[in-house]
Amino acid sequence: MKRLFSGIQPSGDLHIGNYLGAIRNWVRMLDDYQCIFCVVDYHAITVDYQVEAMRQRIFNAAAECMACGLDPGRCVIFVQSHIPEHTELAWIFNTVTPMGDLGRMTQFKEKSEQHKHNVNVGLFDYPVLQAADILLHKAEAVPVGEDQIQHIEFSRRVAHAFNSRYGETFPEPYHITPKIGRIMGLDGKTKMSKSLNNYISLSDSAETIRSKLATAVTDVNRKRRSDPGNPEVCNIYTLHRLLSSDSEIEYVNTGCRTAGIGCLDCKAILAKNMIAELEPIQQKARELKEHPQRVWEVLEAGKQTCSLIAVETMREVRTKMGLR
Ligand code: ADP
Repeated sequence: MKRLFSGIQPSGDLHIGNYLGAIRNWVRMLDDYQCIFCVVDYHAITVDYQVEAMRQRIFNAAAECMACGLDPGRCVIFVQSHIPEHTELAWIFNTVTPMGDLGRMTQFKEKSEQHKHNVNVGLFDYPVLQAADILLHKAEAVPVGEDQIQHIEFSRRVAHAFNSRYGETFPEPYHITPKIGRIMGLDGKTKMSKSLNNYISLSDSAETIRSKLATAVTDVNRKRRSDPGNPEVCNIYTLHRLLSSDSEIEYVNTGCRTAGIGCLDCKAILAKNMIAELEPIQQKARELKEHPQRVWEVLEAGKQTCSLIAVETMREVRTKMGLR
């Protein structure tokens, strides 16, 4: 079986962008790959964060992923900082990475804009650490949301550069992305993101989901109830396509185009389906939070398994580079 790797930042609540753009697809791939998932805490510290909240965030990210269906019997889950080889390999990859490549990364440009007061070297170097995350475990398949494609393509270049310089060592990884692109935030302007506070959290109550959806931006050209709308430019419709039944999708599509239904009617159907999708996840997450030891044990077992791979890869890397 091919090896698959993906990561999630412990930077706050997981949101439906993470779930629909990434985690739900991870769950669907569990039996087709040898799957490794990582809570990438070293990535999360590239922006300001509350030190005292970090441990809980790491726990929550792991618990919520498990609640979404990452069954520890069928995959490995671990925390990035528990395996020091990630940063060691990142340093080595720094030496085969042209500065210009990193300056072109969209995420770097966006985050530098959002965190003007703290544009640190870690933020700039983020894709190199991400390449190290993937390649340390010699993963080939990397299922990510559409926003991460550029970084996975960069990881391919890193693998290629290392292999050309030091001999065949790493597979060139490829991304697997859902057909529907990125999930936009409730503001309709940028991607849904923990750091932008434009999201619906996986732990939001039914009440909160309804009220957040009620104010979410739709087709901006549909100003009045009587104006026909264009579902193709509406984020609510994108979410319908991921959460609603075929007949409901058809109903809101036609209803919107003909002004047969209003945005609030359309959002009410979406809210019902989103609440139904999240209900069992929230139930499972509550159970895990009541038994935190179960989650920490999974992370400890993941550390043990992945350390073996990491140590082996680094031995090979050092040998190929003439460092031992
Ligand atoms: P965030 O961008 O909210 O900090 P992460 O960087 O932890 O989230 O991303 C974890 C996974 O979720 C990645 O595979 C990423 O591509 C995916 N993802 C995050 N936000 C979105 C979004 N708005 N739409 C689709 N996928 C997303």
